[in-house]
Amino acid sequence: IGKIGVFTSGGDSPGMNAAIRSVVRTCAYLKVECVGIYRGYQGMIEGDFKPMDARSVNNIINKGGTILKSARCKEFRTKEGRQKAYDNLRKEGIDAFVVIGGDGSFTGAMIFNQEFHFPIIGIPGTIDNDIFGTTFTLGFDTALNTVVEAIDKIRDTASSHNRLFFVEVMGRDVGHIALNAGVGAGAEEILIPEENLGRERLLESLKRSKESGKSSSIVIVAEGDKTGKNIFELKEYVEENFPDYDVRVSVLGHMQRGGSPSCYDRVLASRMGVKAVEALLQGKTNLMVGVQDNELILTPIHKAIKGHTKIDKELIRVSDIMSI
Ligand code: ATP
Repeated sequence: IGKIGVFTSGGDSPGMNAAIRSVVRTCAYLKVECVGIYRGYQGMIEGDFKPMDARSVNNIINKGGTILKSARCKEFRTKEGRQKAYDNLRKEGIDAFVVIGGDGSFTGAMIFNQEFHFPIIGIPGTIDNDIFGTTFTLGFDTALNTVVEAIDKIRDTASSHNRLFFVEVMGRDVGHIALNAGVGAGAEEILIPEENLGRERLLESLKRSKESGKSSSIVIVAEGDKTGKNIFELKEYVEENFPDYDVRVSVLGHMQRGGSPSCYDRVLASRMGVKAVEALLQGKTNLMVGVQDNELILTPIHKAIKGHTKIDKELIRVSDIMSI
């Protein structure tokens, strides 16, 4: 392998730039050429490539988003699209690639590998932490800090007005952001898809909390939670059945995906980039780099795509105890 491509694909997350930097500099260190592919699979199909040297990634470790841009690309889902991508990679002399993204991006890479025997390695970049084979994905830790900071601010206004706030956080089908940020921000209740205890229990818990002397409350709702049809419907239900509180909703939205990456995400990204390039140069392929017990591990990419992450039961218990 003499030339490695690197790109970001799907939803962006803080830490992607730090991972790009790491891949580029590891290539330079090991004297392999490196090419940045813009806009993920879209840029691969259009031949949007740029050679990257160690200096081309100066001053990006602290930046959110991705300098290589990201995209969702329908054409890559077709055989013809992937053939175009392959032809462009060959023309450019790229022998292997590192894909930084989520499970959709990994699925595309896996199919590409099967069709063209093209070496690929994945780095998990998503704030949702929903990828099997790694305890942490790039961007998760930063997103938690962003959410905790936002909830701290909401708490100030909630306690000034005796309000009950429902705060919706991202996470797609899983509740990792909600649970961790909820415990970190001292939320009264955390509603996650992995543990649907029903609306009645939520009401009881809010009543108990009010009776115990709390004047305001914060309930974190994971976007994938099904306790209500949606967060606004849940608000109406609580208002009807529990008129004591002035209820407000705050949907945090895309601010959770932005911002300068935390130190943890920068370090993790740097480690994962080194591991990805080294694995390719050792002839490994079709793997995702992950972290477990603070050691880097490689997981077959099909397992990373299919496997499910487990919610932290101990943390659910901690949260229950804290909301006494
Ligand atoms: P996020 O976690 O933010 O959604 P992701 O990597 O899962 O990130 P997707 O939009 O699911 O994001 O996938 C990114 C791109 O990967 C798609 O736009 C498409 O180009 C490619 N891709 C996804 N699934 C497939 C597939 N089955 N076959 C070929 N390409 C695919």
